[in-house]
Amino acid sequence: MNPKPYRVYSHFLKQQFGHRVHKISVDAGFTCPNRGETRSGSGCLFCDPNGSGATGIARRLSIQDQLEHGKEIMRRKYKAKEFIAYFQPFSNTYAPVETLRRYYDEALKVDGIVGLAIGTRPDCVAPEVLELLAEYNQRTDLWLELGLQSCHDSSLEFLRRGHDYAAFLEAAAGAQERGIRLCVHVILGLPGENHAQMLETADEMARLHIDGVKIHLLHILAGTALGEMYTDGNIDVLDQDEYVSLAVDFIERLHPHTLIHRLTGDGPRDTLLAPLWSLNKWEVLNAIDATFAQRGSRQGSRCRYA
Ligand code: SF4
Repeated sequence: MNPKPYRVYSHFLKQQFGHRVHKISVDAGFTCPNRGETRSGSGCLFCDPNGSGATGIARRLSIQDQLEHGKEIMRRKYKAKEFIAYFQPFSNTYAPVETLRRYYDEALKVDGIVGLAIGTRPDCVAPEVLELLAEYNQRTDLWLELGLQSCHDSSLEFLRRGHDYAAFLEAAAGAQERGIRLCVHVILGLPGENHAQMLETADEMARLHIDGVKIHLLHILAGTALGEMYTDGNIDVLDQDEYVSLAVDFIERLHPHTLIHRLTGDGPRDTLLAPLWSLNKWEVLNAIDATFAQRGSRQGSRCRYA
């Protein structure tokens, strides 16, 4: 039984595989089209030099070595036996198809790797890439993770995402036509968005029957353009109570079937400028559960497309 009033991805994995399965982040050395001279140069406002990936991923190691290293850590920590290779930083479909195939194959050859999660941008999944992913979808447990952040073009422009919502809709439709499961990243607390607008992104995820979401809290990192704006006093962040209430509102509007892959921000401790309360991850998650209990509600209880 799902222990939470919302569908937790890790719990789903446990049911699917019969035991816990952990994700291991890998950095294959990709770059990102939003960081080139043709786009905004420095990339999305919130993106740090690590390409919005986990810090500490050893870029100089082969994919195989990164996974073996990650496996060792997960084995010691959780006694884990099976893993999903998570191609996380930058845009992991931003290369010719044959290069992508080589990297994904290298990951799948590693003992104990039972799936792939591939993070990328909506404008980096051309039909030939989707065809390739459809092949892997037949071979392994595949998730395509698309960074969206918001369904509002004004926010995408503010964030300097370099794509609009229409690009996301096209990418999502292409993946769904091919049966590829989608996990969409969204950010709550974006400057310029009011409460109702943030919930409209949840409505869109519900309308599109998106398989999974990662809900991020807007967090500000040193070394980013957003960090500079924050230091200059031009950006406000949510306090914990605001975020908790908003996250519960958001989940209530999602489709009951959507899996929640992540529920709060997870900024690196050494570069996080704000909000510092987000470092108390368990406190935030417990407050979210307590708010659901107080309201007597659950995921999808206010969904418009269930
Ligand atoms: S698309 Fe991803 S890697 Fe590229 S600039 Fe934006 S957050 Fe960074």
